[in-house]
Order: sequence, then structure tokens, then C-alpha cells
Amino acid sequence: MEGGYRAGGTSAGAGPVQAIAPVAEQKKDTEEWQLLLVNRDHLLSEDYKIHEMTKLRGGHSVDSRIYPDLQKMMDDARAEGLQPLICSSYRTWDKQEELFQRKVSYYLRQGCDRQEAEEKASAWVARPGTSEHQAGLAVDIVDVAYQVLDEQQEQTEVQQWLMEHCAEYGFILRYPTDKSELTGVSYEPWHYRYVGKEAARELTEQGLCLEEYLSGQSVVLF
Ligand SMILES: [Zn+2]
Repeated sequence: MEGGYRAGGTSAGAGPVQAIAPVAEQKKDTEEWQLLLVNRDHLLSEDYKIHEMTKLRGGHSVDSRIYPDLQKMMDDARAEGLQPLICSSYRTWDKQEELFQRKVSYYLRQGCDRQEAEEKASAWVARPGTSEHQAGLAVDIVDVAYQVLDEQQEQTEVQQWLMEHCAEYGFILRYPTDKSELTGVSYEPWHYRYVGKEAARELTEQGLCLEEYLSGQSVVLF
């Protein structure tokens, strides 16, 4: 891990999740794009183009459709005296590939063969096509006072506030600590995904991760 900074998703190394049938059409008030599932089993196509981008400060950008709620969430957090900072947003396929290959090269230099190197790399950086950042629907947010992507991030005032309020703005903490086997990504108390307010409320109230929500029922792996 480079300085505790993880560029993408982290594989939990769990077994395969059972097939999940999207049920977006059953969610009348939630638009389909809001429930786009991107994970190790549901890859974005290489030519996926985000709808329309809105540029943010710091060279960041997101899908324009999530921008108003994201901005309001950031503004409201700041009004509470907090200092949230977006440290990752939309990522192109090329950028994700570059981050992934950099990690693969590291393991190749360690003497791994390619397959082994890619497997190890995917524990730290999401494979191209499996990162929600490539869809422009997710942001990593840290506390200005603690800009490290590790589990300590959850202790910050910013994360405490975001975890409590993000659903009001249509966001979910996408990779909760107790859902790693289902999401395929270990706990990331900084990665927020826009799913729309209705879905965010339901997910939060029912304690579901996106995979469970879209499967229409709780997925049991054991
Ligand atoms: Zn992220």
C-alpha cells in the first residue's frame, strides 16, 4: 500500500457472489442509472461514457446528475464546521488501467508471474471496469485533518457526519465493513456512491449493500 493511500477498490478475496438480477425496473421512483451496478462481476464496458460531466475544484469531475446533491451535501457539512475534501472522483478507463498496471508491475518486480501479480494487485486497486469511479457516480471524501485512506478515516468528524447524513442527499457508504464478502471490496469509510434519495433511504433503513438491494433479497453466502 502506497502511503496508506488506496487508489481503488480492494478485493476481499471472497468466493463468488451468486448471480444477481437487476431489478431497477421495479423501483419506479429511482432512475435506472442511479442503480448501475459496478463490481468484480459486473464490469463497465470499455467504451462507457459518463452522461455529462461537471468539473469540481481540484481537477475532479462527476456525472452532472449527481452534482447538485453532492454540492449540497458538501455545503451542509461545511455549514456544520466540518472540512470534507473530495480526493477522488471520476476516473477514465486509462487512468484506472494505469493505476492497476502500476501495482501489477510492482508485484512482477517482486518475482510474481503475471496472473499472481494481477491477483495481488487487485487486492489494492480495482481492476479496470470494476471501479465505480469510472462511472462518475462515486467520490472518495476525506477529512482535511486526516487525508489517509485507511480504517481510521471512520473516526473523523467528517465521516461521522457523512455516515449519518449521506442518505439524505442520495449517497450511500458503498463498502461497509460487514458487507465485504458481498461487495468484493473491503471496508472503505470514504467511498460514497450516489444511488438517489429513495434507494439511499431504503438501503440505509434496511441495512443493505447495493448488491443485496438489487438482488431484491438478502444474499446469504454461508
Ligand atoms: Zn472510491
